[in-house]
Amino acid sequence: MSDDNRKKKAEDKTTPSALHVMRGVEGGHDGMPGSMRHAANNKKPQPGIPRLSTDEYVKGIVEGDRTILGRAITLIESNAFPHQEQAQEVLKAVMPRTGQSIRVGITGVPGAGKSTFIETLGCQLTAEGHKVAVMAVDPSSSVTKGSILGDKTRMEQLSREPNAFIRPSPSGGTLGGVARKTRETMLIFEAAGFDVLLVETIGVGQSEVTVRSMVDFFLLVMIAGAGDELQGIKKGVIEIADALLINKADGSNVKAANLARAEYERALHYLRPATQGWQTGAFTASAVTGDGIKEIWEVVEAFCRKTRESGAFGNRRRDQARQWLHSMLEERLRDTFYRNPSIKDMLPEIESSVMDGSLPVTKAAWRLLKCFEESQGRPQDRQ
Ligand code: GDP
Repeated sequence: MSDDNRKKKAEDKTTPSALHVMRGVEGGHDGMPGSMRHAANNKKPQPGIPRLSTDEYVKGIVEGDRTILGRAITLIESNAFPHQEQAQEVLKAVMPRTGQSIRVGITGVPGAGKSTFIETLGCQLTAEGHKVAVMAVDPSSSVTKGSILGDKTRMEQLSREPNAFIRPSPSGGTLGGVARKTRETMLIFEAAGFDVLLVETIGVGQSEVTVRSMVDFFLLVMIAGAGDELQGIKKGVIEIADALLINKADGSNVKAANLARAEYERALHYLRPATQGWQTGAFTASAVTGDGIKEIWEVVEAFCRKTRESGAFGNRRRDQARQWLHSMLEERLRDTFYRNPSIKDMLPEIESSVMDGSLPVTKAAWRLLKCFEESQGRPQDRQ
């Protein structure tokens, strides 16, 4: 066992059970395979290097120190309770410096050209003086070892930019756990002066909806010539997008891309817009030639201007914070419930009574909840 693992094991023992929600995140302290770490431009804390003090983290983040920034994100991604506690202190201290960025979610099926698009857009934005952070939400990454942002050849140019920082998806754990880590990482980036945050996701389960709930603008990257079915676009994804981008509009594909754009544009008129006061439009671009990339960013900027003026921008952010609070509570409560020893004892029998039809489901649920409430009432049983 490595020093890192040994240390982590010891730390885990101090973790109260209710905080094991995110258990399963590989590596805990830093679960990134080496290639990702390269892409992330990020140094892994060496075994034996002591953790920084909260003030050191805060100072480093505010000063935009890349090494400390990387370590602060690693702290946020850690499942060990002392790390989580310190991460919250760091977040609390930097909160006044957060919220100033444009947060953009990017989705689309694998192969649509998301990474190429992010690379081209990111390089354009850094050239204009923006500081760009790229993140991913990929709840499947514990299985695929990071299916997105996992390959170091992706975004190679952007990863060399001093004003860009690429952070792969926290691996494993529940979607809720991955989302919590990404949301907190976004705040750290904002405190470090990053004014453009790009969050990539693929159509796995609920991941698009989760990313939608943490960004201001949501972009769906598509390709022409394949029907929605073929592209694996789930019903509803178009409805949560603020813009549709038909990518790969280059060479012999330009005509098909324009046709697809016009078709989607027509269809969009029948849908309720994803954002109040904003008409979702369809656009074309080529992430390879760069055509249309500047224009799509102008759409994002126009969106921000318009929704800031109308108040929709601020309302959405406030609403997102409230919803985040509730989803955190729900996840923790669920976890506390299922880890409760009395519930663990009772559950198998109640389950079989429900399955053989001898106990009505509602009554079974009441019985379990009553048992849970009683155990919570007795301090010695508390989690
Ligand atoms: P992702 O899986 O959505 O991130 O897609 P990638 O960015 O990895 O792109 C998948 C493939 O499409 C790669 O071979 C890219 O070179 C290619 N590709 C991406 N964007 C474009 C584009 O605008 N035009 C053309 N012709 N190819 C592209």
